[in-house]
Amino acid sequence: RQEQFRALRDVEPLTKDGKRISLMMNAGLMVDLPQLAESGADGIGLFRTELQFMIASTMPKLEEQEAFYRNVIRQAAGRPVTFRALDIGGDKVVSYFRNHEEENPALGWRAIRLSLDRPGLLRTQLRALLRASADSELKMMLPMVTEVAEIHAVRELLQKEVQHLSKFGHSLPRRLQFGAMLEVPALMWQLDELMAEVDFVSVGSNDLFQFSMAADRGNARVSDRFDMLGKPFLRILRDIVRAAERNQTALTLCGEMAGKPLSAMALLGIGFRAVSMAPTSIGPVKAMLLSLNVDELAQELHAALDDKRSQEPIRTLLTRFAEEH
Ligand code: PEP
Ligand code: MG
Repeated sequence: RQEQFRALRDVEPLTKDGKRISLMMNAGLMVDLPQLAESGADGIGLFRTELQFMIASTMPKLEEQEAFYRNVIRQAAGRPVTFRALDIGGDKVVSYFRNHEEENPALGWRAIRLSLDRPGLLRTQLRALLRASADSELKMMLPMVTEVAEIHAVRELLQKEVQHLSKFGHSLPRRLQFGAMLEVPALMWQLDELMAEVDFVSVGSNDLFQFSMAADRGNARVSDRFDMLGKPFLRILRDIVRAAERNQTALTLCGEMAGKPLSAMALLGIGFRAVSMAPTSIGPVKAMLLSLNVDELAQELHAALDDKRSQEPIRTLLTRFAEEH
């Protein structure tokens, strides 16, 4: 099967009914980069910048961050890379930083919360990203956004960095795309405001699921207890798709579910057209979508999601659809 998937590398990801799906891969270290060409991914939909911090023994300096990002962009050879601003805290431990105990680290001082409280840290990263993307395109997004005000705050810092760099004669990125991850349920009730503020939204389904279900993603007793393909979560995701369509905002999903063929099929069925996953999943997901009639699935799936009486699990419907097609 590995051979079979490799043979699909240069095949365009078009569904049977002709929809072009953007398949991107997740990465975080230089060793991941060769997989971009090997998997045939359209780009890197999630670059986890905290990994450089997690494997270092001291805080990477501006020059080290810049060199690292520059290297990533060079190796990506023209394919787009979406850098995620530092997501430290929760399940992502950086030993030389943030070493205090928290009762609920997933709900604690982490990601953009931490970055906004340590603006020096955030500004250094923004500066490194801007410098590394001089004369090319910078695509970046913020993790764990809870309120739209946090986006304003980061934009202000970004603006300061842009001014600083141009004052000292540095080249700037030709184009800047600024996005937010949708991982915190509170954003579900700010979708229009959120989408008016950003160029794109990327759903972090690992976190959005754990917070929606109040089930720790790292605790095996509860992490698989509820079904990601159950009605509640698929309805949440569908509301996001509808908001993105209403606002004409680019939308993608970069959690682990995008890499499982059956889940990826469900995502296409509710309207996602761009997903980012582990590189080894690109082949299996592409094989799935090449034989998928999205419109046909969408009809069945929407009807099931709208049905308030049926007891049949959505997963059963999806499995049946996959077997029949
Ligand atoms: C997610 O939460 O779904 C996500 C993509 O980010 P991470 O897994 O790094 O938290
Ligand atoms: Mg996350």
